[in-house]
Amino acid sequence: MNETLLMIPGPTRVSPRVLKAMSENIVNHRSAIFGKILSETTEMMSEVFQTENHSYMITGSGTAAMEAAVENILETGDKILNIVGGKFGERFMNIVKSHGVNSLPLMVEWGDAVNPDDVKNALEENEDIKAVTLVHNETSTGVANPIKEVGKILTDYDALYIVDTVSSLGGDEVYVDDYGIDICVTGSQKCLAAPPGLAALTLSNDAWEVVERTDSQTYYFDLKKYRKSGDAEPPETPYTPAVSLTYALNEALKVVMEEGLRNRIKRHKLAAKATRNAIKSLDLELFPKEEVSSTTVTAVNIPEGVTDREFRGIMRDKYHVELAGGQDHLKGNVFRIGHMGNITHRELITTISAMEMTLRELDFDVEMGEGVAAVADTYLPEDL
Ligand SMILES: *Cc1c(COP(=O)(O)O)cnc(C)c1O
Repeated sequence: MNETLLMIPGPTRVSPRVLKAMSENIVNHRSAIFGKILSETTEMMSEVFQTENHSYMITGSGTAAMEAAVENILETGDKILNIVGGKFGERFMNIVKSHGVNSLPLMVEWGDAVNPDDVKNALEENEDIKAVTLVHNETSTGVANPIKEVGKILTDYDALYIVDTVSSLGGDEVYVDDYGIDICVTGSQKCLAAPPGLAALTLSNDAWEVVERTDSQTYYFDLKKYRKSGDAEPPETPYTPAVSLTYALNEALKVVMEEGLRNRIKRHKLAAKATRNAIKSLDLELFPKEEVSSTTVTAVNIPEGVTDREFRGIMRDKYHVELAGGQDHLKGNVFRIGHMGNITHRELITTISAMEMTLRELDFDVEMGEGVAAVADTYLPEDL
């Protein structure tokens, strides 16, 4: 078995329970048996989304749901406000552009979060904006955007609110109904700790109204078909679903329910705090502004005199800890530690200890055990 400790921002390692569920034999995907699994899964998805609305599954990675969210509401001549502060914000913009629709980008410096006032200003200056896209957790920069505050601003406007929670749902606060999110999308392989290959989304009544009157240019992702089959009795998907992955996601969501969503978010927050404390105690520098840093992934500047290749190479080859590199212009300049899914202090202590040894080997001045102590101190109750 490949024992490498995966500390990347997805895909994440799945629990043995989930692997076992996935090994069950295939059933008829248009049957009461599968219908029960599907309805359980989408009901749990809605619970994790914290919405009263139905959720729908799409076979595909997170990007499939991003594309479905956008193309079902787009028509030629529309104007979409894309908030872009990293690779995934850019992706939403590129999806919009690929449909020949006007994207109005609101550029945010990589490493910072969007200022809700800037969203308000953009909406004031352009009254015909049909939708706003925002990535909650910008995985490329390790930034959490203020989805609640932006949602508050959007209540005063007609624009639909589309949010990517691929790398935050199940690890950070996402209250779809409370925040007024109209279309929320996620993927299976990040905080939910299921294998990659499934995406999910949920739509508000306002969003469905727009979808209904939009002549969308999509066949496979036509959400009207997903709703028709998904709301049938027993529920189905319009096309053959990834049956085994559905078993896996069903089991992974049961794990989430058993842990409890709030406990799970708390665990992620603690892991993020422990990671940041360890990084700072080793005199390394966080890439994003700390006050907007992510709950599920920590991006760190690669220190002077150390190359990404050497650093992550030793971490992987010698210590069997896999970290992620930077994307685009951050490639070679930052590394990223994913602490999402099933990560606890156990994995963090191993990761930080391996990091100390690796940095020492690369002649970087570190005190052995200092980072590990910072992790331990974060987890120990204060009254000990
Ligand atoms: C991982 C991720 C996605 C989707 O990527 P896929 O490779 O298509 O699953 C989208 N948005 C964010 C913020 C992500 O982290």
